[in-house]
Amino acid sequence: ESSSAGEPETDERNRSVNPSQVDDLRILARERYLNDRESLKLQVLQKELTLLEQDVAREGWDSLTKIEQDEITLKRELISLVQQRDGSSGESRFRFQDDYVDEDGHVDVARKQQLLQRKPTQQLEPKTRQQLWEEQQLESAVKASGDVDAIHVAGSRQYEFVFDDDALIDFTGDDENTLPEVESAYDQKLLDELDREQTRLQSIQDTRRSLPVYRFREPLLSAIKEHQVLIVVGETGSGKTTQLPQYLVEEGYTKSGTLQIACTQPRRVAATSVASRVADEMNVVLGKEVGYSIRFDDKTTPDKTILKYMTDGMLLREFMTDPELKKYACIIIDEAHERTLATDVLLGLLKDILPHRKDLKLLISSATMNAAKFADFFYDAPIFNVPGRRFPVDIHYTLQPEANYLNASITTIFQIHTTQQVPGDILVFLTGQEEIEAAKQNLEEIAHVLGSKVRPLIIAPIYANLPQEQQSKIFEPTPEGCRKVVLATNIAETSLTINGIKFVIDPGFVKENSFVPSTGMSQLLTVPCSRASVDQRAGRAGRVGPGKCFRIFTKWSYFHELELLPKPEILRTNLSQVVLLLFSLGVTDLIDFPLLDKPSIPALSKALENLYLLGALNSKGSITRLGRMMCEFPCEPDFGKVMHTAATHDSCKGVLEEVVSIIAMLHETSSIFIQERANHDSSKSSIAGKVFSDHVLYLETYNRWKDMNYSRSWCFDHKVQYKTMIRVRNIRDQLWRCCDKLGLVALNDQASHTLNGSSNLEPRIIKCFISGFPKNIAKLGTSGYHTMGVQQGGVNVSVHPTSTVFQSLRKDMVKPSKFILYQKLVLTSKEFMRDCIPIAREEWLNEMVPHYFKAKD
Ligand code: ADP
Ligand code: MG
Repeated sequence: ESSSAGEPETDERNRSVNPSQVDDLRILARERYLNDRESLKLQVLQKELTLLEQDVAREGWDSLTKIEQDEITLKRELISLVQQRDGSSGESRFRFQDDYVDEDGHVDVARKQQLLQRKPTQQLEPKTRQQLWEEQQLESAVKASGDVDAIHVAGSRQYEFVFDDDALIDFTGDDENTLPEVESAYDQKLLDELDREQTRLQSIQDTRRSLPVYRFREPLLSAIKEHQVLIVVGETGSGKTTQLPQYLVEEGYTKSGTLQIACTQPRRVAATSVASRVADEMNVVLGKEVGYSIRFDDKTTPDKTILKYMTDGMLLREFMTDPELKKYACIIIDEAHERTLATDVLLGLLKDILPHRKDLKLLISSATMNAAKFADFFYDAPIFNVPGRRFPVDIHYTLQPEANYLNASITTIFQIHTTQQVPGDILVFLTGQEEIEAAKQNLEEIAHVLGSKVRPLIIAPIYANLPQEQQSKIFEPTPEGCRKVVLATNIAETSLTINGIKFVIDPGFVKENSFVPSTGMSQLLTVPCSRASVDQRAGRAGRVGPGKCFRIFTKWSYFHELELLPKPEILRTNLSQVVLLLFSLGVTDLIDFPLLDKPSIPALSKALENLYLLGALNSKGSITRLGRMMCEFPCEPDFGKVMHTAATHDSCKGVLEEVVSIIAMLHETSSIFIQERANHDSSKSSIAGKVFSDHVLYLETYNRWKDMNYSRSWCFDHKVQYKTMIRVRNIRDQLWRCCDKLGLVALNDQASHTLNGSSNLEPRIIKCFISGFPKNIAKLGTSGYHTMGVQQGGVNVSVHPTSTVFQSLRKDMVKPSKFILYQKLVLTSKEFMRDCIPIAREEWLNEMVPHYFKAKD
């Protein structure tokens, strides 16, 4: 740019400036450019360090690997080195004019030339106040000329980044320091890093522009301007989730930061993963301008966050504190076709407030299925269709039904892997974490046996509980010559888009929470998907080019056995929590509350009955103080009741600490203990053995860990997952704060003084759980346990083999107790109870929930 080509023109346009200053100006501009690069380098470094430091703050220094620790140390050193070198003056750190003008005003042409060609890596020297003053003078001269743009430095535009204030650097003041020799190596490393960052940002911007929604940016924005409610339909991967919110930000809907944009997701993983991607795209630190909010994990900054990805359940809770959602300019209900309970209720509540909030924009984004239903619901709201491209996908069915779809899937993976060319990644839809981990292990073993006979396989799992740092693996580009196998739950059906998938393997099952109103029981069931779902899944194979989908079920089954559409959650789930929330918002007319699909009357009355049983509603059907309290807790009302009982009930108060620890552990049970396949109980054996219930096992585990100062090595020694325990601790802290806010901690403190010793803790704990889960109790009969509370004698249930209760029954030949309380029912080969606690005394039932158990006898 500084070549002679631009010179005459620049001369022309800077007539008001002394022509001899043109080169000075050019040098200044170049210095600025160098300067930018310098501070940008620092900012990149600082940004990375900030992220790392966040990890340290969250997980502790000890939890990092040696490499991570070294990296942080190195980065800290680098930053302090550069800060020492540059002093605290900020601004330009370069000397110039006096480099080529001597005291008599003679210009050293060679030096000037040299400066004009200076490379960014050049060693820098500190400058004097005199130089600073001169720079300022020259700068104002440039400004006065009114034509700064005439001096254009290549690429300088590109370097205009918006960094967050907090990420800027405070410089320590010591002008005399110069950098030691080694610095140039660091410097080069930094520059390389900078260049990588540049390339990455550039490719992100290119990707953004290549997405199908990009071409519709303007029409979309004007449709949004015109209509209060807009339904946006488009293929998965067209950019709805990541781009729409950014367009709204760019369009100024957040009124320079005073209002927010919310984008709801049915799944936690989707909320966190998308937020992190969008923070990257906007080049901000996750948790600042862009954040996420999911239960027990809020990564947002008050007064700073303008774009918030959140689970639909979290937005629902916000209605309690802000019934008109005043802080939002736009709400995007994403993945609305999933029809989760929270999404359905949200749509109902939003429909109510829209007339009062004329300025609120509502976008409903959905995959292609049933968009018309949303349009109808919002008085014929317009549907904006983003045409997307999808390549053809060949569908293959099995000829006979497969008894074991997991094995069949694994065989299919290797069939593809050994016969089909790379690149071409495989996406397999499984139902949950356990299945995915089993498949992963299986695949690794087979790949190991095959060794170098086949190409390398990269196995990448993704499911809701997968620690966030492992999630990014699915998005990493597959190295050349390799094949990636993504093992996913139906999160990959529409919420997450993984590039490079050419093959889809679909056994056609999904895990669903099902509630049977007649028995009042909820359970997690593996059920066949709908046709719409399996078609969505197949579509994942056609994003990069023609693809193939292998369905592990028959064609006949597709046409004759699968439902057309998935069943909305509101029609198959326990409604207690939502009904309670609606009551607390003042919505008591459940029959007339606007909903896309109305739940059945028996389901509603079951929910009301349950809430009455817990004491959340009184006999007149209005919400009680306890009910309001239960709403405040970020967990199911039943747990809220347990905590309330632990602090207040005459016969068992004083055990709030213990109960809160257990509840926190119950939220993470699936990943606390490291499982050893061959021997189920070995992992727990070091703590188990003396305890006879899962609840007490959880309590013991937590307390011992706490006594060891939350140590990582303790976890390792006891085969407990450290990262899970960190999450448990975080959940526990939040629940405890909530208890404190509600005054339960104070009540508990009074009560716990009267407790003598720990001997009578367990009965108290059991009683608390009975009060919250009176329906989750099974009774021992002639043919084992059966559930209670049903006229016809209940359902036969067994203790799950992973439960401590099972093991103690088996090993110690303990007599089974007459009653047992469970947290969850799981149907696999039969109905199993998970997380069990035996109830030693029958009269406790009566004591804790008299109006329920009296009636039964
Ligand atoms: P939609 O919501 O319409 O299904 P998205 O906005 O989720 O589409 O995705 C748009 C594109 O963004 C995808 O094609 C994918 O390439 C990219 N993308 C989304 N999330 C990530 C991520 N975490 N890492 C890398 N790329 C991503
Ligand atoms: Mg999406």
